[in-house]
Amino acid sequence: METLSTRCCIAGGGPAGMMLGFLLARAGVDVVILEKHGDFLRDFRGDTVHPSTLEIMYELGLLDEFLKLPHQELHQATAQIGPFAVTIGDFSHLPTHCKFIAFMPQWDFLNFLAESGRRYPSFHLLMNREATGLIEGNGSVCGLHANTREGPLDIRADLVVAAAP
Ligand SMILES: Cc1cc2nc3c(=O)[nH]c(=O)nc-3n(C[C@H](O)[C@H](O)[C@H](O)COP(=O)(O)OP(=O)(O)OC[C@H]3O[C@@H](n4cnc5c(N)ncnc54)[C@H](O)[C@@H]3O)c2cc1C
Repeated sequence: METLSTRCCIAGGGPAGMMLGFLLARAGVDVVILEKHGDFLRDFRGDTVHPSTLEIMYELGLLDEFLKLPHQELHQATAQIGPFAVTIGDFSHLPTHCKFIAFMPQWDFLNFLAESGRRYPSFHLLMNREATGLIEGNGSVCGLHANTREGPLDIRADLVVAAAP
């Protein structure tokens, strides 16, 4: 049985878990993220990154680097109705830096967050680790049990966050 200790343990390396992990590590908080899959090439989860998300990337200082990844930009959406081409969406008026939807697979987005997080020494992303239950003591949650290929793992943490369905 391997045992780790951290300030915050997050179960689930989806957008929610990865972003929280990034934000905590950026603030100097030691964080362990458990992701049950070995990579982010999991179920298809869409490929649109919306202007509000891109704005957050801007606020975090990540936008320029993020937009270097292969993507396509949708500035306006048009529908053909009979002989008429009708504009059904126009993002040019949005109060955001990116006035478009970026098309990029979610796994590229997650890999980017993982790479950005790894710049901070307190960011620990553990792939192939499946959270299986809570560790409880003195009436409160104080960690997680996890399964790994090498055997069981216990993670003690001041805060446990479930970011997995
Ligand atoms: C078909 C589809 C298309 C979509 N298209 C878009 C889109 O184009 N644009 C958009 O913005 N949103 C889209 N969404 C929504 C978007 O995918 C979700 O809002 C987002 O993935 C939710 O993120 P999350 O981190 O909360 O959960 P999830 O993405 O579900 O992430 C949870 C993570 O936890 C891991 N996990 C699960 N159980 C455990 C465990 N016990 N231990 C460790 N890890 C575990 C999973 O492997 C997963 O990586 C789409 C969703 C679907 C289903």
